[in-house]
Amino acid sequence: MNTKVQRVLVSGGGIGGLAVAGALARRGVAVDVVEVRADLEVTGIGISVPNNALRMLKTLGVLDETVAAGYVFDEYVRRDAAGEQIVALPCPSSSDGVPGYLGITRARLAGILRTAAIAAGARLRLGVEIEEFTEGPQAAQVRLSDGREVEYDLVVGCEGLRSPLRTRLFGAQAGPVFTGYSCWRAKPKMPRRVGAMTKFAGATTDAGLVPLTEDEMYLFHVTAEPGNPYHEPAGWRDLLEERLAEYTGLVAEVRENLPPAEEIIYSPLFEVRLPAPWHTGRAIVIGDAAHAVVPHLSQGGSQALEDAVVLAEELTRRTLADALPAFMARRFDRARHLQRLSSTMLVREMTGPPTDREELGAELSREMASVRAYLDQPV
Ligand SMILES: Cc1cc2nc3c(=O)[nH]c(=O)nc-3n(C[C@H](O)[C@H](O)[C@H](O)COP(=O)(O)OP(=O)(O)OC[C@H]3O[C@@H](n4cnc5c(N)ncnc54)[C@H](O)[C@@H]3O)c2cc1C
Repeated sequence: MNTKVQRVLVSGGGIGGLAVAGALARRGVAVDVVEVRADLEVTGIGISVPNNALRMLKTLGVLDETVAAGYVFDEYVRRDAAGEQIVALPCPSSSDGVPGYLGITRARLAGILRTAAIAAGARLRLGVEIEEFTEGPQAAQVRLSDGREVEYDLVVGCEGLRSPLRTRLFGAQAGPVFTGYSCWRAKPKMPRRVGAMTKFAGATTDAGLVPLTEDEMYLFHVTAEPGNPYHEPAGWRDLLEERLAEYTGLVAEVRENLPPAEEIIYSPLFEVRLPAPWHTGRAIVIGDAAHAVVPHLSQGGSQALEDAVVLAEELTRRTLADALPAFMARRFDRARHLQRLSSTMLVREMTGPPTDREELGAELSREMASVRAYLDQPV
């Protein structure tokens, strides 16, 4: 532990795992990635990538490909359920030419991160997971489900919301907590009709449209689902249609153009608030495994990317014993603060439409300005 890491196992090949694998491999560390899924299929439709995440993609050397594969925009627009505009707020670009916001398909973003990680030298193994993990003074001993037994200096768990490594290290009580709300996502069978992140305030629900490409956009719809009921997937289209009933205008058009049930994604929204530290001597969890957040400021993937970049910097700058606390010092407060801001925004958006539009516009302007100032800070 008094030396810098040379061999790292990354468990989980999602956004955080591929990013940290690429970042470490680019800095000369030998990296293996194990991903439990046997295929490269990516769950989810699109993802909104704000400026703070785009800055991380720049550090990872993949900003240009990401921008070319996505749809850049520079506004956040709030409308009512009929589509009438309440306020349009800028998403400023940072001074070094990184865009303010971007929508991209999840498959494309994953493909970019995977290609970069492999090109940097990371070895990706699909259909494999950790079966046994023991920490020793000289190394972590890992037995993998493909039968291999390998020693690493550090294991990085990027296994998402239900991370088995987190449970192994910190127990089941550190697991996800349901927020009371869920998000429905769908790519409507109609061309893109928004040029910016556009949210529509319903009475007790909130809908949004995000541009993905020149031709495509996706819908997200947040609803209260007390008790986290199970909804049969075959009924998801009908349920989404019902839940969008109050909307007129553009969202009503989208409702009439929903894809079949099997193309709709229903996600109960959970948070993970793992107390510090997120590490032991030779293992650490990052991304959703440590701090899953509701999607209201597009910070889940963004914080996973910030974790990845900062962890790679600290691990290649210091000994392992010093790097993990240094990582926590840079990451814990920021991730926790953004969880709180995102959760506040979720609750406010779900408590009904604005009664005074001007007041709401002014309040949103203030709130978003302070969020932007926070996100603009260096990580
Ligand atoms: C409705 C919704 C909308 C969202 N919208 C946005 C958005 O617009 N912008 C944004 O930034 N974020 C958004 N997020 C959050 C974002 O998707 C997550 O924060 C992000 O994917 C976290 O990355 P991760 O690498 O930590 O985990 P994941 O992306 O979940 O990746 C985990 C990976 O680990 C693998 N895995 C699991 N268990 C094991 C195991 N035992 N061994 C090996 N591999 C394993 C999984 O198969 C998966 O590939 C949204 C989330 C939701 C639910």
